[in-house]
Formats: sequence, structure tokens, C-alpha cells
Amino acid sequence: MRLRFAQQVAALEAGSTSSSALLTRALAAIAQDDPTLHSFLDVDSDGARLMAAQSDRRRAAGALLSRFDGVPVALKDNLAQEGRPTTAGSRILQGYRSPFDATCVARLRQAGAVIVGKTNLDEFGMGSSTENSAFGPTLNPRDHGRTPGGSSGGSAAAVAAGFVAAALGTDTGGSVRQPAAFCGVVGVKPTYGRVSRFGVVAFASSLDQVGVLADDVDGAALLLTAIAGVDPRDGTSSARALPALDDVAPVGGVRIGVPRRLLSGIDSAVAEGLAAGEERLRDQGVVVVDVDLPCSEYAVASYYVIAMAEASSNLARYDGVRFGPRQRGEGLEGLYESTRALFGSEVRRRLLLGSFVLSAGFYDAYVEQAQRVRTLIARGFGAAFASCDAILLPTTPTLPFLLGAKSLDPLAMYLGDLFTLPASLAGLPALSVPAPCISSLPVGLQLVGRAFDEATLFRLARALWTTSDGVARLEQ
Ligand code: GLN
Repeated sequence: MRLRFAQQVAALEAGSTSSSALLTRALAAIAQDDPTLHSFLDVDSDGARLMAAQSDRRRAAGALLSRFDGVPVALKDNLAQEGRPTTAGSRILQGYRSPFDATCVARLRQAGAVIVGKTNLDEFGMGSSTENSAFGPTLNPRDHGRTPGGSSGGSAAAVAAGFVAAALGTDTGGSVRQPAAFCGVVGVKPTYGRVSRFGVVAFASSLDQVGVLADDVDGAALLLTAIAGVDPRDGTSSARALPALDDVAPVGGVRIGVPRRLLSGIDSAVAEGLAAGEERLRDQGVVVVDVDLPCSEYAVASYYVIAMAEASSNLARYDGVRFGPRQRGEGLEGLYESTRALFGSEVRRRLLLGSFVLSAGFYDAYVEQAQRVRTLIARGFGAAFASCDAILLPTTPTLPFLLGAKSLDPLAMYLGDLFTLPASLAGLPALSVPAPCISSLPVGLQLVGRAFDEATLFRLARALWTTSDGVARLEQ
């Protein structure tokens, strides 16, 4: 039987299951359904069995490493895991095995998590549907004709399908929150700096953050608590202490702001989900106010200039000399050319545009302008937080779209990121939780908080949280 994260922890604590038994079930479910869904790029059955057996021994000896010691989890395949493939969804990293663990991965190990495998993603995290993976798309477990979102679509699908109760992803402009919304699971992008980026395949360094996806709020909180914290290997990681994320204090009196002006034109099902969420919060005494997020309508333009510029610089290392499988070619340029021909078309588009906006004569017109907009967006949040404690808006303007619907229209794909990009540009924590309404396809509600105030987001997420099976949370 499928158990949610909190249920797995409870069953392990009650002794009614073992880590090895949870893993066996996970591997069987993957073997049965993942050939269709394609959420994993690599499953490490042997390694995971070893980790599960070690966890069971620790439990027997009363030497647990964390509350979720022994729970199977998955990693997005742009996170380095020692001895395992790390492709970032790209042919240019095919066959690469990481000689080290990313800090977030090392911390999961130190918490006793059982790492089942690496999940599918848009190449280098560039996309919103997982269709840009060099290894084929992932399907949405809720509707196989639709995308699970992206770029952490494999992680979201693996959680939604019940293969694992939680997974790590990365979020540069929405890649944890949007797939979480599309697959009906919880997704958290912490404050920029909250989690070390050491060992994360870089896309846009001023925006990249590691995030968590889980099938309940408590699972997301436990995982984030395990991976957060300062790291000497990432100078942008923050030493600010993570507040306790298990606060179940009533939310009465908390103020949330809804940026109505930004929300015109959303799908009616999304509007219904938002209304249901607001109602549920109001019922619990939350005060809902209107807020303005000035300049957020320019978030797409600003983000794509900045992200492409940073990507073109970060991905310059894949030249066949320092990184990437060396190809044959005439001279040095020929070598670069044939190696970099391994990039997929979306990555190439972004590298070309990124180099263009960085070039002399265009930098001021594009990058500098985009940075100004970024500053104004961040200030806008600062002003909004004078009248509320968190902001509530849908995670996406639409329901999960059909596979192929936007893959030939990059601009349409980019515009779908409108609601996740402002928090990314401002470096703020944001969480997507399924809306409390019964519809055939999930709607994600996004909460954005003040920098380093993940705790308020988790409190509000718990107030919004419902599950079809009525399972609420972990015993304290
Ligand atoms: N969809 C956005 C993009 O394509 C965000 C991706 C991400 O967060 N990695 O850039």
C-alpha cells in the first residue's frame, strides 16, 4: 500500500514496517509504472538496498540519524551524488559519474535517507515541461496526456505516482513549485542562500536554489530542515538559522495579500482553486487583503534576460576540454563546435541569446535594464510585506497543459512562468500546495514569504492542506 511521507515515518516508528520493506515496495512500483511515466533517469536499486539495510540496523540499535531515517527519496538529476550518473538531462553530461556528493545530498545521507535514484528534468533545468530532457519527456501521473511541468518534472511525477514520498529538485524560476502544482504535491523553494548550491549543476547562479517536493507538508518540512544551512563551499549560503518548520499554531490573525491585478486572465479552474484557498484561510481567521506587486508583470522579460545571460556564462565550461565528452573536430574551434552540438535546441537558443545580451553595446540595453526591473520587483515585495505576512497567488495561470502544446512555442512556455518568477527574482521563499478543491486536475496555490521566513509559509500551508485520504500530519 502507498504511504505518504508522514505515514512512512509513523509506520517506521511503530515498527509496522522497515526501511527495506518501504524500499521494496518503491522499487516494485517503479518497475511496474515508470516505463510509462519515465520519471527516473537512473534507479540505484543496489545502493538503495544497502542504505535501507543500514537504516534498519540503526533503528534496531536505537541509533537513528533523523526522524525520517530509512524513508526512500529521489534526487533531480542535476544534483551530484557520489559514484552515480549526473546528466542534468543533457547528452553533454551523458556517462558522467560524479566523484562527490552535493552538500544537500550529503546532508540527506547524514539524515539516513535512502536514495532511490535520479529523476528526469529539462536539460540543465531549462524548461517548464520536462520535454526538453535529452532522454525523453516525463508524463503527468494524473493524466498521461499532460506534462508534469518542469524542470523538476521527474521529481514531481515520482512523488505524485507514489514511487517515493519526497524528492529534491531545483528551482531557478519555478522548477520546483510549478511541477508540484501540476502534479498535485507540495513544493518548496526556500530563500536564496538557505540551501547550499555546492554540487548543483549550475544554470543561473543568482537564482538557483535547491528545493523539496513531498506528498505532504510535514515531509517537505523535514527534508528542508535536513538540507538547509550554511556551507563553506558555497559563499552565497546563509548562516541564518532555520526556524522550526513544525509550528502548528493556529493561523488566526495572520495577514495574507493577494496581488489581484497580476491575476487577470487566469484559467477559471485556477481562479476557483484560489477562491477555495482564500475561503479556507478566512474560515481559520486569516485576514485577506489586496496587494500590489509593482513591476511583476515584467518578471518574465527580466528573468529570461538574466537567466540566459548567466546560463551562457555557466555553460561555457562544456567545451570538450574541461567538461563534456570530447568530440572530433577540425582544430580547437572544430572541437568546441562538435562538442557543443550535443546541447539540445532550447539550451542552444538560450546560450545564443545569453551571449547576445551580454555583448558590448547590448549589455546596458538588456542585462542592466533587467537587473533594474529585478530590483524594483524586490522592492515591491518589501512594500507589500508592510501590509501582510505572506502573499497568496496561484502557482501557474493554467492547469497542466497537454504534452506538445507549447514545445514549439518557447514564448508561450516562458509566459506560463509569470507567477513563479517574481519570488525567484526577489530571492524570497515560496511554497506551492495543492488547492483545497476537488477537480480532476490539480491546482497549485503559491505562498511567498519574507526572506528567511519559511516558517510562516509552512504554517499557512498546513492550514490549506487536505488530502483525499484524510491523512493530515505527523504526531509531534
Ligand atoms: N521554466 C523556467 C525556465 O525555463 C524555470 C526553470 C527552473 O526553475 N529551472 O527557465
